[in-house]
Amino acid sequence: MTVTISQTRATAVPRLELDRITKRYGQVIAVDDVSLSLADGEFLTFLGQSGSGKTTVLKIVAGFESCDDGAVRIAGSDVARKPPRERDIGMVFQNYALFPHMSVADNIAYGLRRRKWPAQRRRARVQEMLELVHLAELGGRTPRELSGGQQQRVAVARALACEPQLLLMDEPLGALDRALRLDLEQEIRRIHRSTGCSVVYVTHDRDEALALSDRIAVFHAGRLVGLDAPARLYERPPTSYVARLLTDANLTALPDGTALHGEVAELSIGERRVRIRSTATQTTGARLAVPRTAISLQPPPGDHVTVEARVNDIVFLGEHARVDLGTTALGALIAHVPIHQTDDRTVGETLHVHIDPARCQVVI
Ligand code: ADP
Ligand code: MG
Repeated sequence: MTVTISQTRATAVPRLELDRITKRYGQVIAVDDVSLSLADGEFLTFLGQSGSGKTTVLKIVAGFESCDDGAVRIAGSDVARKPPRERDIGMVFQNYALFPHMSVADNIAYGLRRRKWPAQRRRARVQEMLELVHLAELGGRTPRELSGGQQQRVAVARALACEPQLLLMDEPLGALDRALRLDLEQEIRRIHRSTGCSVVYVTHDRDEALALSDRIAVFHAGRLVGLDAPARLYERPPTSYVARLLTDANLTALPDGTALHGEVAELSIGERRVRIRSTATQTTGARLAVPRTAISLQPPPGDHVTVEARVNDIVFLGEHARVDLGTTALGALIAHVPIHQTDDRTVGETLHVHIDPARCQVVI
C-alpha cells in the first residue's frame, strides 16, 4: 500500500511545467531561462517589480506569445503548437475586459456557448458561477451597472465557468482600492479552496503574494530568483534582493572577521561571537539580514545578543511601534516592538537592545 502511494506521488504529472523558457524582445531578455512547475490545485504567485517578466511568462503559457527557447507543458503535454483557445486556460486581467454590451450572465456563458454546451446545462452552470462569486442576483445587469470589484468577480466567474485546467490571473486587483482589494483577496482564497483549481497569479504587491499563495516565485530582470512557500521565503530569503522585496528586514554590512563555513556564518556582534544561518558563498557583497521583529528593547527569554543603541526615533504604528536605532555593532537598525516596550523610552537616550540570532541570516 505504502509503496503504491509514494509511487503515485512521485509520478504525479504537474499541472504546468516551464522548462527553461527564454523570451527576447530585440536586445531585451524579458524571460531568462525560467523553469518551474505547478502542482495540481496549487496557488502559485509570480511576484516581482514592474518589467521583471511576469506578464510575458503568463502570455507564453496562455499562447499569446511564443518563447525563443524552452518548453511549456500543461498536464504533461507540450503546448507549443496549440493556439490559445485550445489550451483549456481561464484568464483574468487587471482591466476587467468584460463584454460591455452583454449581461453578466451572458458574459459568464460566453465560453460555454462557444463550447456548445446545451442551453439548460449552460444556465445551470452560469447560476452556479454567480453563486460562487456571490452575485446570484445580478446576472441580468450589464458590466456598467456593477462596481469595479463586482466586475472583477464576474471576470473570475467567466474564467472558471468552463472548468479550465489552469487559471491565470494578471494583477486582477491592481485597479481596485485597498479595502476592496482585501475583500477580493479573501474571495479569491475562498474560490480557490472550494474549486481546487490550479492558479498562477501575478502581482507586484508583496502582501497580496504572502496572503494568497501556496508558493511564491520571485522574478527579477526576467529571472526566477526565489521559489518557496510564503513563510519560508519570508523567514529565509535566499538573497538580499528577495529579502528587500518580501520583508522589511534590516540588511547590514557584515562585521569584520566574518567567516563562512558552508551554511553557517560565524561573526561578531558586539562582544559576542555567534553562528548564523547563511546562504552566501562569499563574504564580498553579502549582508546580514536582521528582521525588524528579531530586535527587542527588553531581554527575551531565549538566546539573544545584546548591543548598545541610541534611540533615534519612535513611531507609533497602531499595533506596534517602530524604533529607529543607531548601533556601533551593526549601524542603523529598525525594530518593530510591542507598544509597551516603548513606555518611558525617549528619543535620544541610549539603551541595550536584544537581537535573536536564530532569526538572522547572512544573504548574498
Ligand atoms: P512585468 O509583467 O513583470 O511588469 P513584462 O513581462 O511585461 O513585465 O515585461 C518584461 C520586459 O519585457 C520589460 O522590459 C518589457 O519592457 C519587455 N517587453 C514586454 N513586452 C514587450 C513587447 N511586446 N515588445 C518589446 N518589449 C516588451
Ligand atoms: Mg505585467
